[in-house]
Amino acid sequence: MNMEICTLCEEQVKKTRNGKPHEYLMKVDEVRIFPGKKPRGFEEQDYQCIKCNAKFTCSTDKNDLAWTLWRG
Ligand SMILES: [Zn+2]
Repeated sequence: MNMEICTLCEEQVKKTRNGKPHEYLMKVDEVRIFPGKKPRGFEEQDYQCIKCNAKFTCSTDKNDLAWTLWRG
């Protein structure tokens, strides 16, 4: 089953760690804080688009993509 995503979500995938969530992305659950990693911790926040239902995780970890799209 293919999941169509809206153009805003297509653009969101390309954003950097400093990129803001687009206007239809809503936070899902609480931010997850990972304090243990050196030199400092990082945070993850889940989002879901209210237009196309695409799910993203935004991470501040330098080793991760800033915006990860979860394809259903
Ligand atoms: Zn979308």
